[in-house]
Amino acid sequence: MITTNFPERETANGIPCPACGVPHPPADIFCPHCGKAVGGLPYIREEFEGSRRQYERFADAVTHFVSAPSYFGVHLFWVAAWILLNSGAVMAIHRFDPPPSFDLLSLLLSVEAIFLTGFLLVSQNREVDYERKRAELEYENTVQTNRLLGEIHLQLATIANRVERIESDLRIER
Ligand SMILES: [Zn+2]
Repeated sequence: MITTNFPERETANGIPCPACGVPHPPADIFCPHCGKAVGGLPYIREEFEGSRRQYERFADAVTHFVSAPSYFGVHLFWVAAWILLNSGAVMAIHRFDPPPSFDLLSLLLSVEAIFLTGFLLVSQNREVDYERKRAELEYENTVQTNRLLGEIHLQLATIANRVERIESDLRIER
């Protein structure tokens, strides 16, 4: 008897898609609604996103925002405006951060860099955890598949032996 260790989550309506929850007949391989593979294996990405703590959600949002091209555009604009206003180019405005040191600008950028590094590290650690868990699942899956293949191989060998015996018995009878 061949048994699998794959967690079956089949209901009366079929196997529910772990991503969107729509039930599918067991013959379905991919969910037509979200494109995910339908099977008993969990979706690590969804599980990870669901178990995020508040600060991790915030760190992910910050990392997402910082990696967008608009972030560089906005920074380029306000840093250039800051330098322009404080270099005396606009006479009507009082210089609040005089050149050449631009102390306040340096301080702001340093503080921003410190916070961003923290957020990026939190986000990156989560990504590493995700990759590790995915690799583990892949390994487990490979081991289970190998075991299953070994069992199928044994069953096939038994069947082949039986067929051979039946054939030789038939030959003897003739
Ligand atoms: Zn789906």
